Amino acid sequence: MSEITVQGRPVPFVPSPNRVARPAGVTPKCLVLHSTCASYNSARRWLCDPVSKVSAHFLVARDGGVTQLVRLADVAWHAGVSFWRGQSGVNRFSIGIEMEHLDGTQDWPAAQLHAVAALCRVLLARYTLPADAIVSHAEIARPKGRKVDPVEFPWEAFRKALTVSEK
Ligand SMILES: [Zn+2]
Repeated sequence: MSEITVQGRPVPFVPSPNRVARPAGVTPKCLVLHSTCASYNSARRWLCDPVSKVSAHFLVARDGGVTQLVRLADVAWHAGVSFWRGQSGVNRFSIGIEMEHLDGTQDWPAAQLHAVAALCRVLLARYTLPADAIVSHAEIARPKGRKVDPVEFPWEAFRKALTVSEK
């Protein structure tokens, strides 16, 4: 059952066991972008493998396909030790979005950028968040420099895509 529709398509749900219930009264305050450093298929397997103890709410493929792995009411394990605007433990109050990308060897396709932007627009609207609530894993990971993803992400093109109204 789809919890969210992006670009007119209900997003398929493939449940990951790597999650806990969001604490009562806590709602998402930011969206955290990641890159997988792996292909879509191996990333999806890893994010759904109980051994990995990692997950994300969404995985966006290079072709723009979006898959949901963790319900929005649950906490996904994507940020690790982290800090944002005065609060640590960003997983509790965030939504994690993994993007299929192999560091250093791949570009960022327009279809993927537009799908991520469309997904973010839906989530920002749902939780009444401003565009600057979209952050990189690199910026919230602690200690600083522990994470560098999403690697080579074209933030300017992404911000532009974010402002395009959805048809
Ligand atoms: Zn990450």
